[in-house]
Amino acid sequence: MLVLRLPDGAERTVPPGTLPRDVVASIGPRLLKAAVAVAVDGEVQDLGTPLRRGGAFTVLTDKDPRALAVLRHSAAHVLATAVRRLRPEAHIGFGPAIDDGFYYDFEVATPFTPDDLAAFEAEMALVAQAAFPFDRAEVSREAALATFADDPLKLERIGDLGPDEIISTYTDGPFVDLCRGPHVPDTSWIRHVKLLSTAGAYWRGDERRQMLQRIYGTAFFRKEDLDAHLHRLEEARRRDHRVVGKALDLFVLHPTAPGAPFWTERGTILYNTLVEFVRDRQRERFKEIKTPLLYNKALWEQSGHWGKYRENMFLVHNDETGEPDTSLKPMNCPSHYLLYLTKKHSYRELPLRYVTFDVLHRNEVAGALSGLTRVRQFAQDDCHVFLREDQIADEVKFLMDFILGHYRTFGLEARLKFATRPETRVGDDAMWDRAEAALKAALEATGMAYELKPGDGAFYGPKIDFDVTDSIGRAWQLGTIQLDYAAPERFDLQYTADDNTLKRPVVIHRAVSGSFERFIGILIEHFAGAFPLWLAPEQVRVLPLTDDLEPAARAVTDALVAAGLRAHLEVRESLNYRIREAETMKVPYMAVVGKREAEAGTVAVRVRGAGSKQVVLPVAEFVARLSRERDTRALEPLVRD
Ligand SMILES: [Zn+2]
Ligand SMILES: [Zn+2]
Repeated sequence: MLVLRLPDGAERTVPPGTLPRDVVASIGPRLLKAAVAVAVDGEVQDLGTPLRRGGAFTVLTDKDPRALAVLRHSAAHVLATAVRRLRPEAHIGFGPAIDDGFYYDFEVATPFTPDDLAAFEAEMALVAQAAFPFDRAEVSREAALATFADDPLKLERIGDLGPDEIISTYTDGPFVDLCRGPHVPDTSWIRHVKLLSTAGAYWRGDERRQMLQRIYGTAFFRKEDLDAHLHRLEEARRRDHRVVGKALDLFVLHPTAPGAPFWTERGTILYNTLVEFVRDRQRERFKEIKTPLLYNKALWEQSGHWGKYRENMFLVHNDETGEPDTSLKPMNCPSHYLLYLTKKHSYRELPLRYVTFDVLHRNEVAGALSGLTRVRQFAQDDCHVFLREDQIADEVKFLMDFILGHYRTFGLEARLKFATRPETRVGDDAMWDRAEAALKAALEATGMAYELKPGDGAFYGPKIDFDVTDSIGRAWQLGTIQLDYAAPERFDLQYTADDNTLKRPVVIHRAVSGSFERFIGILIEHFAGAFPLWLAPEQVRVLPLTDDLEPAARAVTDALVAAGLRAHLEVRESLNYRIREAETMKVPYMAVVGKREAEAGTVAVRVRGAGSKQVVLPVAEFVARLSRERDTRALEPLVRD
């Protein structure tokens, strides 16, 4: 007999092979109606799959995040059902749920068109309306081979199944698929679905195999959620940093240097402004250093990268031997340890915080490169802290405040993840107990909620990861605080303790923005290119109404520039043309100088995004407000009507 423990502590004892559906029905008919699937000891299965084990028994309703993957995978079946109704000759591949939706791969003679997708989507609505149950059957290998005799991809898959594996099929209406499940109870659940795109994909990701046609889609339990998601996708397209970056003349990519952006004059201002911002905040309590970019392999052998990370490194071959013996650095850590080792250190110096903005290279495969988010050359706001073990709690608290303050400056909301000891790790349990307790205490001191990721820590220590949510609700992983007990051993790092003995420090790896390249990509999308004043490459465009007012406009420009503002005088073409151009370039302020303004010593200010409304201000007042807006790094304009 199987014992099922319900969340309220009650137990049910049932014979093996009982259907979860019957267990749920015995708990309550209302719950059965709301049930999407169940989980037994965390393993999700559908209501129609016989129970083979006991354990903690949870009913998943649409409120459980795990239910969404079940819905989306079921939507893939409904898609295949629709495709087979309209294209009976299509062979079927795999149809998994993915992060934001699902896909299904088909083998067809010609690629699908947008019209095809519209037709499939309409057909899916009919399949949903029919409310076909997902009928599960456990079948013999012979029966499976017969069922899928016309589907070579499925036959290949059956051939891969081990002799003891249960082979199951799921039937919804006219369509049978080879699948392990789980699925929602019937197709009527798949009502809020959207097919998004189609692309070629090699069968099983193998470029030597045939090209299939993959259809991507997404599905939700509620219409509002689907609408919100589609709106986000639309916004994401509009904000795509590759498009906005080009329109605003910030960076370009060139095929001769894949994955290494060229920063234009405007982009360089943006980049340097960010670096200076971090540098300013680090001036007092950190020590900025620069270390070489190229190292011979002895360092990478000592750090372990030569063995485990070499394919991600750009190697330089020795002229004489033809063998690689040198590499560009893919990360700063080992070089910081080397610098640390060049001197003796006392306990009084700790925590010692080395920061650097050095250029790093990682050999990402060409196919994975994308805009600024996946590059081969980049710089991080990287920091390595050398500290005593008794300093961990205070240090983590300090670093967390530093990181959270950084995100707040950009209006990015942070979420924290706490990753603890993995199965394969260095150090003893007492060390991990202390390290995790210190990180946890620092986390709890912030009062912020955090997500626990048991077993997700690095092999050398536990860590806190920082995800930020941008203005359209997308999450990006950026910063990290990682304790490292392994590197100090490997590099034999030491400090002199107060009793004059030599002790091992602990190392903390800290990044805030991740890489500046990726962070700028995220900021471009977060602000849709409309940067706050302090970041904007061009802050004010000064526009004389007519040519004869150019001297007056030049005086306004000079006053702004003298206050350190990035202002620029624009006299070409008509005023309307110049205004439109400044709007397109998302310049935060336009200062229009007409005859009246020239005589009165004022400017007519147009604020970005406020249309044709103007605020008339004395020049000195305008300069003062903009200086304050820049210095406080305000997210909203300080000039408004
Ligand atoms: Zn399935
Ligand atoms: Zn590091």
